[in-house]
Amino acid sequence: MDEQQNNYINNTIKLILIIFGIILVIGVITGTWIYLQKFTISNIPYYFIAIHNEPYHDESGGTEKIEASYLLLKQMIEKADEYNIKLTLMFTAQWADYISESPERVADLESWKKQGHEIAAHHHSIYHGNWDGYTDYTEEEAIAQRIKQGKISEKYLGTLTDYINKLKKINPDIKSGCVNDEHDKKVMPDEIVYDTCSGFANFGELGQLFGDSNSPEKGNNEYITVGEYKNIQRKWLAHYQITTDERQNSAQVVFSSMNSGVYGAVTHSIQNQAESYYKFLEFLHSKDLAGEKSRTISEIIESKLLPEKLISEKLINKKTQTPYSSKKQGMCGDFICDEIEKANSNLCREDCENNIPYYFIAIHNEPRVEDLEENYQTLKTLVLKANNYGMKLTLMFTSPWVDFLLEDPIRKEELEKWKQKGHEIAAHHHGYGVYVWDGYSYESEADALASREEACKDKPCRENISYNGDMEDYMIKLKQLNLEIKSGCLNEEREKDSLPNAIIYPTCSGFANFGTPGTYSIDLNQEKGRNDFITLETINKIERKWLAHTALLKEGTVQGAKDVFWTMNSQQVYGTASHSVSLPLDKQAEYILEFMDFLHEQDPTGEKSRTVTEIIESNLLPEKEIEIYVK
Ligand SMILES: [Zn+2]
Ligand SMILES: [Zn+2]
Ligand SMILES: [Zn+2]
Repeated sequence: MDEQQNNYINNTIKLILIIFGIILVIGVITGTWIYLQKFTISNIPYYFIAIHNEPYHDESGGTEKIEASYLLLKQMIEKADEYNIKLTLMFTAQWADYISESPERVADLESWKKQGHEIAAHHHSIYHGNWDGYTDYTEEEAIAQRIKQGKISEKYLGTLTDYINKLKKINPDIKSGCVNDEHDKKVMPDEIVYDTCSGFANFGELGQLFGDSNSPEKGNNEYITVGEYKNIQRKWLAHYQITTDERQNSAQVVFSSMNSGVYGAVTHSIQNQAESYYKFLEFLHSKDLAGEKSRTISEIIESKLLPEKLISEKLINKKTQTPYSSKKQGMCGDFICDEIEKANSNLCREDCENNIPYYFIAIHNEPRVEDLEENYQTLKTLVLKANNYGMKLTLMFTSPWVDFLLEDPIRKEELEKWKQKGHEIAAHHHGYGVYVWDGYSYESEADALASREEACKDKPCRENISYNGDMEDYMIKLKQLNLEIKSGCLNEEREKDSLPNAIIYPTCSGFANFGTPGTYSIDLNQEKGRNDFITLETINKIERKWLAHTALLKEGTVQGAKDVFWTMNSQQVYGTASHSVSLPLDKQAEYILEFMDFLHEQDPTGEKSRTVTEIIESNLLPEKEIEIYVK
């Protein structure tokens, strides 16, 4: 009996202990979970999303476009509401008219405000692809600028006061917006004190200019840039365009790398950008279920989420992009170093020294044997244009070009003329992973052929290419063109081992030469052409000095390159590359020709033009070692 009772008590105690233990475990798990949840949320940045509503001013079907965009905008807002994400809705004057003329749309507008979205301003200045008709320049000055940009001028509608009065119909207290002030702060209405389109990045060093479609880092706000224009204090945030799938993906990468600050994104109420916007919203929602980190522009600035940094008046007033100033034309400050200023270098340092970056133009000459004759004619066109503009090219040849140029006396003479003009003769190589392999490899014959087969398993490749030798054989061949050869693009972004000993100044590392050394970036990104420094890396026991280029071979790349070029200065080098290919179906060379016309406008005598080797050997740029590799 006693024993039974003891057993009973023991069992009860055990049971209580077990239950207590379970409660304890559950408690700890829940506590940890809540803690982690809080921790994860507090560990992501704040963010804003701005939506630009375009003016479609003086465009055919402009009104219909606004109508369609309006319906889309409503859907975009609805989706944000579902996730409790606040938007900053930026309207042009054309939209202010469109909304305020309909009671139904005014009711929509009021519901958006109630939901917490901010009503802000959007302006397309006289420098934009589609001017909205408002400016504080005179009508004549504005029209002159439009013509200068190759446009038939849109109709002039009024001053910035007229513009802001339109906007006040939809928000009497309007104070934020994107007013296209990247080029020239004169396009800023007095009322707009919080702006997102200064062109300045809000991370790292103050006053750096970054494009908002090329650099996803542009959305990273570590601080607010603060400055005065027309005696009014302005505060600038920065955004990145999440307007394509690829861009919104890169925005996600940058967002995920941040654990504080504010990430700024922008898109338009345009059908073909909507899908990417929805994807980005999904992403934000997955990181921030309740939308706790979402803010409008004014909220971010007024709640002091970010530290403020003061920017000098000089930097603000520097017209960074379009060399246009009606009042100063012909005087110091017009961004043109004219004859008189040139004759006396101290007269106007601002015009004669400042401004534009050095640049190089690399021409890759491809190994397709059947196109050699055709491509040679294209190459001659490129060289002729460069000669006319006083520019130097870096001509990078693949192995089939060597015999092609040397076996014919006329072509051989042509090559000599290129050298005499100062163009650099450099190397180009296609490894076994490229559609047309040049037959050389750093691997042995058996390995190279096996690698070729492997590489061509799931993609098309030119067949029947035989092994020609290793990379030192390749160099022996190339040296027939230039004994001193030391620069080139050797396809080394895939295999660094493909660099022969002689090539110490390569251009195809895959690394960007700005930001953190060792960061990979693709050639189709126009920011990639920006060289703030030279990247150093030792390959096969030899120190290599890398420059970077952007590839101008496609529609749209030239405009992107101009946008980046305009943000740069004489401390930097802009690198471009293209192919001597201009076949009926593949007009790649057209884009570099177009960009050369642009460079010629910026640099009429070609004095900023350099070859790859000249840039490296003249110490134009600082050199940086790679500490970590950033994919
Ligand atoms: Zn716009
Ligand atoms: Zn190429
Ligand atoms: Zn190539």
